[in-house]
Amino acid sequence: MDFNLNDQQRAFADSVGRFARGELAEGALERAHAGGYPWEIARKLAAQGLLGITIKEEDGGIGGTLMDAVIAIQELAYVCPKSADVVQAGNFGAIRTFAEYASPELKARFLPDLLSGKALLGLGMSEPEAGSATTELRTSAVEDGDHYVLNGTKVFSTHSGDATAYLIYVRFGPGLDGIGSVIVERGTPGFAIGQPSSFMSGEEWCQLYFDNCRIPKANLLLGPGGFKKQINGFNVERIGNSSRALALGRHAFNIAVEHCKTRTQFGRELCEFQGLQWKFADMALKLEAAQLLLYRAATNADGGIPSAYETTIAKLACNNAGFEVANEAMQAMGAYGYSSEALVEYCVKRTRGWMIAGGSVEILRNRIAEDVFGRRFNQRPPKATQ
Ligand SMILES: Cc1cc2nc3c(=O)[nH]c(=O)nc-3n(C[C@H](O)[C@H](O)[C@H](O)COP(=O)(O)OP(=O)(O)OC[C@H]3O[C@@H](n4cnc5c(N)ncnc54)[C@H](O)[C@@H]3O)c2cc1C
Repeated sequence: MDFNLNDQQRAFADSVGRFARGELAEGALERAHAGGYPWEIARKLAAQGLLGITIKEEDGGIGGTLMDAVIAIQELAYVCPKSADVVQAGNFGAIRTFAEYASPELKARFLPDLLSGKALLGLGMSEPEAGSATTELRTSAVEDGDHYVLNGTKVFSTHSGDATAYLIYVRFGPGLDGIGSVIVERGTPGFAIGQPSSFMSGEEWCQLYFDNCRIPKANLLLGPGGFKKQINGFNVERIGNSSRALALGRHAFNIAVEHCKTRTQFGRELCEFQGLQWKFADMALKLEAAQLLLYRAATNADGGIPSAYETTIAKLACNNAGFEVANEAMQAMGAYGYSSEALVEYCVKRTRGWMIAGGSVEILRNRIAEDVFGRRFNQRPPKATQ
């Protein structure tokens, strides 16, 4: 058992870190506060081979491992947190589920532009009445000749205002086995994108409306019964979410460490106060512990899809560590940390969101408890008996 990156991974981390410091450090603060998807960064990262890291070479990807993608997202996030969103979209998000299950024809249509940073795939899973209870989704897909006709509404989708296509979870019929997914392109008649709303982090999302929206049958990703496969693919998204949470926590930590080494109060540097030293010791512990769980989940995936249990426990650890560390880093920097001139408050807001997105920290605990007790705990109320 070796807890260190191997030589190849170390060299890859160094080269991504060098690229990030050279190309992305300047403007990192402005980028974080700018709305919308940073398309120019997407093209830069594509040219650098940082999109499609885990996608097979025959599909136009790099053919690397999940651990490579984790290294890339972390190294970028330490320098430019916003750019890490592009690594997420190009490696871990809906694109990964798409690359895993799409037909050769669908891949040929969509992957070239997605992997060159010219296109972006959003994920439409959540609905007004189906949040944590995803399987309650109502957006319907009804067969009609060579088409499916979609009706329903999706909410909270990341990059919904910018995406060029969307991976939409739909219902073909009743129950869990009735759920599958399709690809819907922006501009398809009957598909409307609502006015933007904002999360606390400043990220915008738009409601997605499907009103008798006809899509060709060729746009089917997973038919009825595909839900379990989709959720399996979603474990990769969760690894990306975990990596960014942890990396933004560390980003805030690094800024706060430098601040406390130079800022003086009461005639001493802040780092000389034991009350602050202990905070930083606890922060270091949280970061290191969560990192081991993240690396275990990514390494054990061995180029494939990570295990549900290892992903769940890594995401819980990284979500908690990322937010708690960023929050303490902000406290250690006083009003400067709380102001938008330091990236630390941005890290606090983003890490807070990931405690809700992609499986909230409560839902993750439910899943872990099922492993602990070796049984399934139904979250629904018991059926009424006569
Ligand atoms: C930053 C961000 C990005 C997102 N991006 C996307 C995206 O790209 N695509 C997409 O489809 N969705 C996206 N979402 C939506 C996200 O998936 C949902 O917010 C999440 O599934 C929770 O659903 P909800 O917000 O409706 O909360 P609810 O399900 O209403 O839950 C409310 C609270 O109750 C808790 N709770 C619910 N059920 C249980 C239970 N059984 N046991 C214990 N606690 C429970 C929850 O954990 C939560 O704290 C995003 C959300 C955020 C914040």
